[in-house]
Amino acid sequence: MIGISACLGGICCRYDGQAKEIVALKKLVEDQKAILVCPEVLGGLPIPREPAEIIGGDGFDVWNGQAKVLTNTGADVTDLFKHGAIMAYQKLIEKEVTTIILKENSPSCGGKSIYDGTFSGNHRSGPGVATSYFISKGLEVISENDWQTVLDREERKCQKTKY
Ligand code: SF4
Repeated sequence: MIGISACLGGICCRYDGQAKEIVALKKLVEDQKAILVCPEVLGGLPIPREPAEIIGGDGFDVWNGQAKVLTNTGADVTDLFKHGAIMAYQKLIEKEVTTIILKENSPSCGGKSIYDGTFSGNHRSGPGVATSYFISKGLEVISENDWQTVLDREERKCQKTKY
């Protein structure tokens, strides 16, 4: 089973109440090959919500206590982000997910890149809070930019079962 950031699967769960649907990923869910998780909503945050960014590092630094997640008005949502990551992981494990495709740049789901904590639209390298937790637990993490590699792999599996 594959995990996918819920907003990529068409769920309107982003901070601004919008989705970032990728049709091929939504189809994976419809075909029951994937499940959707939104760590921020699972952590108890509402839709819509204030935008948040990691201040002082990346997701690993949040877990090490060296960085925080703050909203653009200064509210500290670090604990909600961490709780959401744990809840999402539990949901993934229940469904025997080993690979998850994640929305890039998000303070939760970013894989290679996140916003840099200045709320100016700039990025820095590093994973988000949920992504770093998933990596530490041994899940295979795939950026939304590389989703085609996962579909190609599924297709090869499918071909093998035909012979
Ligand atoms: Fe999408 Fe992840 Fe943000 Fe939820 S937390 S809206 S799944 S990027």
